[in-house]
Amino acid sequence: MPNTERAPERVFKRTTTDLDDWPYPKQPLVPLAESVHERMSVEIFRGCTRGCRFCQAGMITRPVRERSPEGIGDMVQRGLEASGFSEVGLLSLSSADHSEIGDLTKGLADRYEGSGTSLSLPSTRVDAFNVDLANELSRSGRRSGLTFAPEGASERLRRVINKMVSEEDLIPPRPTTTCCRSPTCPMM
Ligand code: SF4
Repeated sequence: MPNTERAPERVFKRTTTDLDDWPYPKQPLVPLAESVHERMSVEIFRGCTRGCRFCQAGMITRPVRERSPEGIGDMVQRGLEASGFSEVGLLSLSSADHSEIGDLTKGLADRYEGSGTSLSLPSTRVDAFNVDLANELSRSGRRSGLTFAPEGASERLRRVINKMVSEEDLIPPRPTTTCCRSPTCPMM
């Protein structure tokens, strides 16, 4: 029950449909003391495409809404200029699921390569991550963070909770070499 006449009896959820219309504060607060996550955070999309059974965040932030690569690039540039951070975290519930994540990370890596600014994807599904993405993130030359959360100890458990991460996603099979069986090969 409302405890004041000004409060409505029922509060309805409001959803921002176009995130590009709502870029972040252009001058983010910078802590005076060293903090654990010493980086600028840029939200690249809201919501999650997956639907793991236990996940409240995925449920209450529906529907999925992506920022455009141009809008994200603008937020990164303005935020870095205003804050002086040297790391940018591309945040969301599952950042590698942004439909343009390849072009986005490549564009940012092109822009900041050699500048000492590193990029990180702190929240990433292991089955959406790949080597190209890792290469783009490491082009700044600085180590940056990656977090994978498989959530279940076995593939069966992960299937039960709708977290479709296979054993192969976590531990890819070793590449096999094919023998050419040439009689001149020193290994034969
Ligand atoms: S992928 Fe992550 S954020 Fe998305 S529903 Fe699953 S646990 Fe939630």
